[in-house]
Amino acid sequence: MDVLSVDLKDRGYNIYIDKGLLRNIDDILLECGIDDNIFIISDRNVAKHYLDILLSKLNTKVTGYCILEPGEQSKSIDTAKKVYEKMLEAGCNRKTTLISLGGGVVGDLTGFVAATFMRGINFVQVPTTLLSQVDSSIGGKVGVNFKNYKNIIGSFYQPKGVIIDTETLKTLDEREIINGLGEVFKYGLIMDYDFFLWLNDNLNSILKLENNYIMNIVKKSLNIKKIIVQKDEKESNIRKVLNFGHTIGHGIETLDDFNTFKHGEAVVLGMMLESLISTEMGLIDRKYYIKIIDSLSRLVSPVKFSAFEQKQIMNAIKHDKKNEKGKIVLVLPIGKGRVNIYNNVDEKLIEKS
Ligand code: NAD
Ligand code: ZN
Repeated sequence: MDVLSVDLKDRGYNIYIDKGLLRNIDDILLECGIDDNIFIISDRNVAKHYLDILLSKLNTKVTGYCILEPGEQSKSIDTAKKVYEKMLEAGCNRKTTLISLGGGVVGDLTGFVAATFMRGINFVQVPTTLLSQVDSSIGGKVGVNFKNYKNIIGSFYQPKGVIIDTETLKTLDEREIINGLGEVFKYGLIMDYDFFLWLNDNLNSILKLENNYIMNIVKKSLNIKKIIVQKDEKESNIRKVLNFGHTIGHGIETLDDFNTFKHGEAVVLGMMLESLISTEMGLIDRKYYIKIIDSLSRLVSPVKFSAFEQKQIMNAIKHDKKNEKGKIVLVLPIGKGRVNIYNNVDEKLIEKS
């Protein structure tokens, strides 16, 4: 088992990573200081495979559970309300610990409920998609969507621990693995070019979910995210680099009503377009741009862009909550494995790209 510690000013926590960890979840929870009064939140797809393992391991320590409908639409205030109701029925109190068993949707919602129930209770992330294992389960961003705006209601609220069982990825289809790889390739492009090259060389083994490769991906990704989050927990400055591909990616997701594209796929398309803007601005040369496009095209075909008009994407971007005073904030590549934050990118350049 690998253990990474996330050290934050007021509370740190451990991330436990290994194949088959769910079978030891009781011991790991004890290590996190959690003994009983546990309430589990999961979704139907995940519960089908893994809820019984948790229930049998934790037994009487579980006060209750709530199983959500799978999908982005569950990340809502309405769902949070249903969860609060179930928690009250089950007798949850200030000492209850929530366990989020599922992907980013269950994780973001559980974190939001944990942050708000009785002004904040403990929660533990047990991420079961690649995206949630390499990204959403750490960093403390929790929240729900509202009126077609993604993550517009939420908070920064850190978990008490993160338990990553790489074996759970076996029940995901390839598209979900690619969804997570979008964020993984992003880490390479923003901070570790050697990792980016390694990903390109080993994509086939990664897609076959060979455990050594998956362990490497999860550990490398979380290390990069952890270094950034430790420096800037509340995203005042450097944490913004994690938004590479996301300004345009979120624009695409908004236009798409969150249906056709998965988050990681929209981010891949966003990284392609943002790299083009970077080339137009003379920040990277054409050779590097082609390398990025060739590599990302193995994940998502750029043909998918044609579904939207550039002007529509622009309008959606203008509503992105990360933009300040009407100016468009973009994270753009400036060299191999390096990006910079640009606070005032010319709209016309984006429409043209
Ligand atoms: P998801 O939670 O919707 O999971 C994808 C699908 O896989 C769902 O149908 C789910 O039921 C199913 N599933 C999950 N684990 C499974 C397993 N092991 N076996 C079989 N099926 C399984 O989606 P996601 O991609 O994990 O997360 C996307 C969400 O994460 C978005 O809402 C996004 O905004 C959020 N996110 C948050 C952060 C953050 O920092 N908090 C970062 C990135 C993304
Ligand atoms: Zn993302």
